[in-house]
Amino acid sequence: MQKMFRTKYLDPDFRKNPKTDSYCIICQRDLKDGQSARLICYELDVYDAIHVDDWEEAADEIKARRAPHLESVVYGFIGGNCAKKLGLDFSKEISK
Ligand SMILES: [Zn+2]
Repeated sequence: MQKMFRTKYLDPDFRKNPKTDSYCIICQRDLKDGQSARLICYELDVYDAIHVDDWEEAADEIKARRAPHLESVVYGFIGGNCAKKLGLDFSKEISK
């Protein structure tokens, strides 16, 4: 099925092992308190970030083509620099 929403591969660096639950999905570095971070939404296992304007639509579409009992999209954080590289329209500002 053709994707009707915009995605971008996150290309996570799995060589690193985050020590906390709050880490950047892309570079896998822990996010420190006060460090700028942004919220992203991506397809589980596939690591395709979804364009902010398409979050709801994409979640519905992905849910429709995956097994319904499985989680389809997940939310995570990325650091400020990684967010810039990815394109700011693929993440939302959060207050931390
Ligand atoms: Zn990062």
